[in-house]
Amino acid sequence: MIRLLLTFLLFAGVSRLAAAERAPNFIVIFADDLGYGDLGCYGHPTINTPNLDRMAREGMKFTDFYSAAEVCTPSRAGLMTGRYPIRSGMASDKRRVLFPNSGGGLPQSEITIAKALKAKEYATACVGKWHLGHLPQFLPTRHGFDSYFGIPYSNDMDRSPKAPKGRVPFNEPKSEYWDVPLMRDEVIVERSPDQHELVPRYTRAALAFIEKNQSRPFFLYFAHSFPHVPLFASKRFAGKSPRGLYGDVVEEVDWSVGEIMKALKRLKIDRETLVFFTSDNGPWLIFNDQGGSAGLLRGGKGSTWDGGMREPGIAWWPGTIRPARVEHSLASTLDLLPTFLSLAKLPPISDRVIDGRDLSPVLHGTGPVERDAYFYYRGETLFAVRQGQHKAHFKTQDGYGQARPEIHTPPLLNQLGIDPGEQWNVAATSPQVIASIEDALERHRKTLKPVVNQLEIPLPAE
Ligand code: MG
Repeated sequence: MIRLLLTFLLFAGVSRLAAAERAPNFIVIFADDLGYGDLGCYGHPTINTPNLDRMAREGMKFTDFYSAAEVCTPSRAGLMTGRYPIRSGMASDKRRVLFPNSGGGLPQSEITIAKALKAKEYATACVGKWHLGHLPQFLPTRHGFDSYFGIPYSNDMDRSPKAPKGRVPFNEPKSEYWDVPLMRDEVIVERSPDQHELVPRYTRAALAFIEKNQSRPFFLYFAHSFPHVPLFASKRFAGKSPRGLYGDVVEEVDWSVGEIMKALKRLKIDRETLVFFTSDNGPWLIFNDQGGSAGLLRGGKGSTWDGGMREPGIAWWPGTIRPARVEHSLASTLDLLPTFLSLAKLPPISDRVIDGRDLSPVLHGTGPVERDAYFYYRGETLFAVRQGQHKAHFKTQDGYGQARPEIHTPPLLNQLGIDPGEQWNVAATSPQVIASIEDALERHRKTLKPVVNQLEIPLPAE
């Protein structure tokens, strides 16, 4: 009897130790073209996002969280590698993103989050929009992901001959207007899928992956195709939001977030899982009510005004993140890779420059993020630098419709703490701030090396 008791106690101790030592799961939920002002918890008055609001209430909401770039492809390259996209050749002034006629993609020499986590045998899946190269050698399955299900680029690409001629029909979209491929791993399983069903289908794939891998460490990269235009909501959400179709779509993405949180709780792995929600770039303002809102920030998608790159950022990890934290550290999607490696107790990547910072002290509530400066690129050109609360604009250009950048010498300077809408230039009274930012920029420039521009490579001839 005593031996039995001892065995039980030993077993209980070992399993507790194993649970404590188990590397955490990571889930990144990535929206497309969602603005800083588009969620209830970031102040939207009519878009109803109870699940994301709860995620923020039970977790941590970042106020100063930035995407790695102002448009899709470079932003995703930054998230996946922890490096400014200029370092991997995934940014271009000529072709701002990858297109179906692009021949380039994220080079094999880059280390993605998925590839890095394979050192600890994480199960890995990518669901949704990839946009880092649609040729086989660039697909998620060649970049450390065990599986892929989704559309490899934007949902408004591959315009079909069935679409009306002329203006892009975003106001009354039909799925058949876009011949986008839906892929499973490396195979196209459908063309022109019913986009009303994308969120439910992606969500089912994500839930199946979580369920299957509940007893081992996993990494799920769940990149929604929405609220990028054309907008589609399923029957359950269509016509419900006072914000119109855009609101319906954001509310369906919110529903999907809730399904993930519910599954983690049901499987009792919520305390072992860090979920991070953010977006790839700001709202696509030129589409009016079909685009989102950057709230009080200036500009939107395509620009280096804060509205183009400052995003909702919400981290949820019950039992680790103290509930209802509001975090003001200057943080970024670049930080996810070093943060996950640190939390998985893997060594940092040391054979190349990693621009991201380890956010684990922030998540644990033990300290701030150490970051000297943040660099804003439009394509491959540096436009602005933020240091502390100050942001210097060396160039400015609207996301769309302004042919050439305006060059500022000396740079425009905004104090974002006082002026988050970037209205008032304080350069004249702060020359020492500009000098310090110029020093940081000089140090940054010294770390850059020329690389092949992947966005400008044409599709090889058949
Ligand atoms: Mg986008």
